[in-house]
Amino acid sequence: MSPNVLALEAELVAMMGDRVRRHEPMAQHSPLRVGGLADLWVAVVTLDELIAVVQRARQHCCPVLLIGSGANLLVSDKGVRGLVIQNRCAGTTLILDERPRACALSGTHLASLARLAAHYGLSGLEWAVGMPGTLGGALVNNAGAFGSCIADRLVRAELLTPSGERVWQPAEWFEYRYRSSRLKGVAAGSEDAFIVLQAELGLERASPLEIEERIARFNAQRKRTQPSGASLGSVFKNPPGDYAGRLIEAAGLKGRQIGGARISEHHANFFLNTGQACAADFVALIELARETVRARFGVEMELEIQRAGEWE
Ligand SMILES: Cc1cc2nc3c(=O)[nH]c(=O)nc-3n(C[C@H](O)[C@H](O)[C@H](O)COP(=O)(O)OP(=O)(O)OC[C@H]3O[C@@H](n4cnc5c(N)ncnc54)[C@H](O)[C@@H]3O)c2cc1C
Repeated sequence: MSPNVLALEAELVAMMGDRVRRHEPMAQHSPLRVGGLADLWVAVVTLDELIAVVQRARQHCCPVLLIGSGANLLVSDKGVRGLVIQNRCAGTTLILDERPRACALSGTHLASLARLAAHYGLSGLEWAVGMPGTLGGALVNNAGAFGSCIADRLVRAELLTPSGERVWQPAEWFEYRYRSSRLKGVAAGSEDAFIVLQAELGLERASPLEIEERIARFNAQRKRTQPSGASLGSVFKNPPGDYAGRLIEAAGLKGRQIGGARISEHHANFFLNTGQACAADFVALIELARETVRARFGVEMELEIQRAGEWE
């Protein structure tokens, strides 16, 4: 490990004890069960901790990867140089006045937030109940499903700026587009990255029965159309006017396997870990799908998932 990382490790251990781990297997923190060792790994549970750890890492010029659940990430077999911060800052407050809304910390699981809102008769997040990931990850990727997305709900979010200030920004600031935002593509924690600390989402009152019916319908649709088990998905964004899954299927690639990674028979835009897959297997399968679709249909598919860690 570099001297900067070692110096950071000593400071973090003094602050947080055995919550700081050296050479931590990232596969243990990825729903895909893939990824090599992180030089340093720490789980934070409060915003003060998150901010303090990011500031220490910046002082030591140590690269940082901030992750929520890792559900949109393919982590390299070579692992991650520098520090991985796992965001477990969770908590939601529901405001039930004439302008109902949810204020939640960025490490809150979006599915739990959606369930809590549903319980109190607040509608707007039913699409998120079956989706893995945290509020922070959703706000970066503009996560969505069944015709809705988090951008539809965001009122404002509090960010940690690259210079270490806490500022609230309105939804327009995020420049949301389909599965994209001004935060996506900038490694969270890097010098010029903004970190989402917490957010306020606007919701609507509805009958709990109606909300539960919608949740049940969406969950049934997910179960019918998506695979279970360790998977990466959606791997590609849908190209304008088409579906990445349809194109991969039409290219004859459903069920195609490289090493331990397989294109799902259920939904071709989900790639499965059959048990012993490594990140390189997924990269090879992604390239195969991208090149075959380009050659057959002349369509360039863009990745929705993000690669993290050390790549060639
Ligand atoms: C089975 C399955 C089903 C899925 N279904 C859907 C779906 O229906 N719709 C959909 O949109 N996606 C879906 N996804 C993808 C994934 O669930 C979403 O992208 C989710 O929002 C990722 O959240 P996360 O917390 O895991 O983010 P991560 O994967 O941990 O991180 C994603 C990015 O956000 C950054 N980041 C995370 N937290 C913060 C923060 N607080 N501040 C700044 N940056 C941050 C990370 O550095 C990284 O760049 C699915 C994935 C799987 C495996």
